[in-house]
Amino acid sequence: MYDCEDCIRRLDQLVDKELSPPEVEEIHVHLDECGDCTKRYRFQEGLKRLVKVSYQEQKAPDALRERLRQQLGA
Ligand SMILES: [Zn+2]
Repeated sequence: MYDCEDCIRRLDQLVDKELSPPEVEEIHVHLDECGDCTKRYRFQEGLKRLVKVSYQEQKAPDALRERLRQQLGA
């Protein structure tokens, strides 16, 4: 069973799809019952998407990060 610390440590890898299926499963078990980590996960995922878009649009990732943070109310 993952606690929040384990979960946070692996979020980057989860978003980058670098984890094995059992690890992904375990994280999702934790995410299902932990609103805070779910929020972090959505933030990371959204950030990754926006950063990708920002390279295409030549925008500053910092501005996008800030915008996303406000949208999520984090
Ligand atoms: Zn958690």
